[in-house]
This record gives sequence, C-alpha cells and structure tokens, in this order.
Amino acid sequence: MSTVEQQLDDLQAEITSELPSDISVSSVKYEGPELVVYTHDPKKFAQQGDLVRKLASKLRKRITVRPDPSALSRPEEARKAVMDVIPEEAGVSDLDFHADTGEVVIEAEKPGMVIGRHGSTLRDITKNVGWTPEVVRTPPIESSTVSNVRNFLKQERDERRDILERVGRQIHREEMSDDEYVRITTLGCCREVGRAAFILSTPETRILIDCGDKPGAEGEVPYLHAPEALGAGPQNIDAVVLTHAHLDHSALIPLLFKYGYDGPIYCTEPTRDLMGLLTLDYLDVAAKEGRSPPYESGQVREAIKHCIPLEYGDVTDIAPDVKLTFHNAGHILGSAVSHFHIGDGLYNVCFSGDIHYKDTRLFNGAVNDFPRVETLVLESTYGGRNDYQTDQEDSEEKLKEVVRETYDRGGKVLIPAFAVGRSQEIMLVLEEAMRSGDIPSMPVHLDGMIWEATAIHTTYPEYLRDDLRDRIFHDDENPFLAEEFNHIDAGEEERQEVADGDSCIVLSTSGMVTGGPIMSWLGHVGPDPDSTLVFVGYQAQGTLGRRIQNGWDEIPTSEVGAINGDNGRGTLSLNMNVETVDGFSGHADRAGLENFVKTMNPRPEKVLCVHGDERSTQDLSSALYHEYNMRTFAPKNLETFRFL
Ligand SMILES: [Zn+2]
Repeated sequence: MSTVEQQLDDLQAEITSELPSDISVSSVKYEGPELVVYTHDPKKFAQQGDLVRKLASKLRKRITVRPDPSALSRPEEARKAVMDVIPEEAGVSDLDFHADTGEVVIEAEKPGMVIGRHGSTLRDITKNVGWTPEVVRTPPIESSTVSNVRNFLKQERDERRDILERVGRQIHREEMSDDEYVRITTLGCCREVGRAAFILSTPETRILIDCGDKPGAEGEVPYLHAPEALGAGPQNIDAVVLTHAHLDHSALIPLLFKYGYDGPIYCTEPTRDLMGLLTLDYLDVAAKEGRSPPYESGQVREAIKHCIPLEYGDVTDIAPDVKLTFHNAGHILGSAVSHFHIGDGLYNVCFSGDIHYKDTRLFNGAVNDFPRVETLVLESTYGGRNDYQTDQEDSEEKLKEVVRETYDRGGKVLIPAFAVGRSQEIMLVLEEAMRSGDIPSMPVHLDGMIWEATAIHTTYPEYLRDDLRDRIFHDDENPFLAEEFNHIDAGEEERQEVADGDSCIVLSTSGMVTGGPIMSWLGHVGPDPDSTLVFVGYQAQGTLGRRIQNGWDEIPTSEVGAINGDNGRGTLSLNMNVETVDGFSGHADRAGLENFVKTMNPRPEKVLCVHGDERSTQDLSSALYHEYNMRTFAPKNLETFRFL
C-alpha cells in the first residue's frame, strides 16, 4: 500500500474517532490541498455547526465535507428545498447539481445572503437536503470572461477532479530527503522590468513563481531551460505560483503546458480570470502584428484548468514541506504578496510581486504583516533615488481641472489607459467628481477591453477596498453602474457618432498608444484644438504615447492605421492639447517601497531587490542596507542564493 493510501486510512480512522458515533465517514480523499471527507450523514454533520472547524484545526488541514452519493436526495426534490431556505432577495439565478461529488453550485446576485451569518444559511441547506452548497456571484455587469471560464470548468469537471486528486497525492507524498536548505534562483526580471520568474527550491520541492514576458522585447523570455527550472524536464517543477495577471508576470504560463508541465497553478480567482483575458488578448495582438505566438489558445485553457484558486489569508499546503499564503498586494485585482513557510518552522520567504503600499480608490494598501519572514524578494520598479510620485489627491485635482477646461471649450477628453487597474481607478475619480458636482456630468465612453475588465472587478468585490466593496454590495450605489458610463460595443460607427457629438470623456486601450481603439480615437479627435489627450500612465521608451508626450504632432497615418479613408500614406495633424497627469500608478513609489520594508512585521534579515532597471534595484538595495542594516542584494538573472 502506498504511503498516501496509508495516510488517508489513518486520517479516516482519526476523523471517525473524533466524530459522534452516529456520524459515519465513508471515505476520505485529497483534492489538491483539500481533504475531502465523504459521509453518509451530511445532515447530522451540518447540525453540529463547529465540527468542520474543529477537525480542520485538529488535523491542520483544509477540510470539505461532502455527502456520500448514496445519501443524496434527488436533485428535483433538493432544488425546491434549497430555494425554500435561501431568502428571495439573494437573487438566485442558477442551481447546478453535481451528483458525482454531492455539490450544488448556487449562482446568486447576493452571495452573502446565500451564505448567511457565519455560514448559517449554507448549513441550513445541508441540514435540509444533504447536498454541499458552493456559492458564486452573478456578475452585476455581464462578463464574457467570467462566464466562459465558469462554463469551461463545468464542462471539464471530471478531468479537473482527476487533476486535483493527482495534485493532492503529490502534495501529501512522504518527504524523501533529510537534507535542509532553501534556495532562490532568478530566471528573469533582475536589473530589468519584465519576464518575472523565480525558482524557490528545497531538497524536496521546486516552485516556479511567475512566468512573464518582457514588454517591447518579444523573444526575451525567462531562463526557463536553466537546470533549476525546466532544464531537468517538465516534471522537475512541483507547482507554479502566480502573483498577479499582468503579462510581465503571466504571459508565458500557458507556454509551460506546451513544454509538458502538468501540475497546479496557485493564484487568486480574479487572477485566473484576468490571466485568461490578458493571455488570449496577447495571442490576438501577436497574430495581428504578424508574429507567431509562442503557444495557442488551447494552452491558455490548459492553464485555466490547472488553476487552484486560493483566497487571501488561506494557509495552504502546496508541497510536503511548503505552505503558501496569499495577502492583498494593492496593485491590481487579485494581486498577491506570496508568503512561503518552509519545513516545520525552518524558513520563511516572502515574494512581494508588484505592490502598492498606500490605499488607492480601488484597493487597500499591500499587507506587510506576517508570522515570520527571513527573506523578502521585493519589486523595485520605482526604487530609484528620485522615483517619487505626485500624491494621488493632487493628481486627481489636476485631472478634474483638465476635464473642466476642455468641457468649457466644448472639446472632448481622450485618455489612453490600461484595461486592468488604472481604468477603474480613473472611472472612480470621474464618477465621484460628477456626483459631487466637481466636474459637469457628461458621458464617459469606455472602449477596448476596459468594460470587460471592469465587469471582472465587479464580480469579485471581496478583493476591492472595504468601502468600495460595500458600495458594490448595494446595487444602487455601485459606482461602476453610474449612468454616465457607456460601453462602446458597436465599433467604428459608434465612435464616429460620439466624435460628432457633444463634450465627453473617452477611456480607451491601449495604454501606451501602441494599437487598439485609441488609434481610431486619435484619428477622430486628434485634429480638434478644443480637445485634450491626457496621459495617466507610464509611457515606455519607443511607444507612440511617449513620442506624443515629447511633442510629436505630425503622425504618419501608417502609425494610427488607415483612418478616415486615408490609405496610410498621409499624416495626421495632432492639434489637440496634450497633458500628463501622473500619480495614478499601481506601483509603490520609492517612499512606498521603503515604508513597506520599514513597517514590515517582522522585518526581514535579507532583501533581494528585483523587478526594476539596474539603477532602481541598486539604489533601493543600498538605501535599505544603510537605513535598516539588513543584508540586501540587487541580483542579476540566473543567480542562485542559498539560505540556511
Ligand atoms: Zn504588475
């Protein structure tokens, strides 16, 4: 008998002995990091409210209880009984019964009302029908990404369960090595921004953290073929952890599946969905630009199928000797500071991912409070000596002023913005300014992927800042549903109509004016001297956005595409005003990074400064060393650090 079988038998015996004698356990199984307990007596289990929590803390495992298939009532009967328990205001839109696992997936507009106080309504459901309820939110704004991911996972349910069982056995395998060490190998994003990738290894386990591309440098991928990574074959990696969905962290995750990787990806639920949206778009853009993409959409689906979503604060076994906990990073939706606890109290490493330390309108600031941390791997995007940003309040004032002046001239405000994060931040600023009368009320048109990204944000309000979350829970106060917002969904015709109309604001992708509908908007609005183009995000060297910022006002129409019947050989005169409002960054500035370390509890002994150009990483590394007397490093790619 294999050791995992033995372990499960022992667990079943232990659980049985902990339970009252009238509750039986028919089997126990691992599904990913969870221990699933099947019982003939799900109703009695649910009647003892505290039982699962007690078992979980006794066994130090995440526990799910499911009814043994023989104990299930028929779905037709159960449906009525479930609906009787849930208050009508919950707005249940779908009930999906899965007899193989005894789960009923309940989709509702107000999941909180299905869950009840401390889970009381959920327990009532099991008490009455025996099925195990699982709740998902109906997005307040319809999202094709969310519904595609949900439908896909439903369709792949059987295969997914096989994957989870296989991963579960891997996680709980017996440790083979008596040796003790912890190493970090840098595979990318050192003394550069982009292609984030690290290997965290112990004698027992190798974990890949992030796997991104380098924007503007196609082909410069992480050093995945290093012996520490895939060099020893795809099975060399036990698990992948994804800190957030930005492409410089996620773009090459699907590539792993092309190389034969078949293991889990740990990330938050919104990161999974956003990764799907952004990597599919990445393939789309590559195809449009005539590049052959490194993988296909089938591999994006594989990646989604292998995702194991974790919530902030869940301590999760991901290997025999590694526990992972995600914490809010304040950077984009679902972004996570990733804390690894290695061995039983042996060592702790924290990867910041990308962070924003202060609160923004969208997110609470990054968490920097941990039980223990010896080493921190810290992003340094704005780690340079002079990388201080304007306060967001001042930035908001300036943006409002630009909007007012443009409105008074009868012009339009055009804002190129990234779909995920900054767009929603700007939407919140504009919504509040209009509500309070700070700027006149006018239509705000959203073009490109912005609307879809916004819909994903409203699907996961738990990941947003407290007060914003509360407003989204009350539909009538959901700021993203404000009547001023309009989704441009009818293409060129609608753009022409807007361009011919009154004053308005347009938010459009791409954020650095390198393609997408913003090109068409430039064609429409660019020649108008009363209108204003406002940059709210970083414009990288070599992008059209940067050149316009630097004063370019005659743009070859080949750059903006053949617009207005032009054959692409003329020039577009940019007569509109050009303004830059910084301070809306999703990254901590130099002060934010220092404060993150300064107030970190406990303060780490060692810091690796990564994810920044040469100057930023070295500046930050030397400042942290001098100020806090800690050992700091600004590693190059392909360095390995040994701890312990
Ligand atoms: Zn990022």
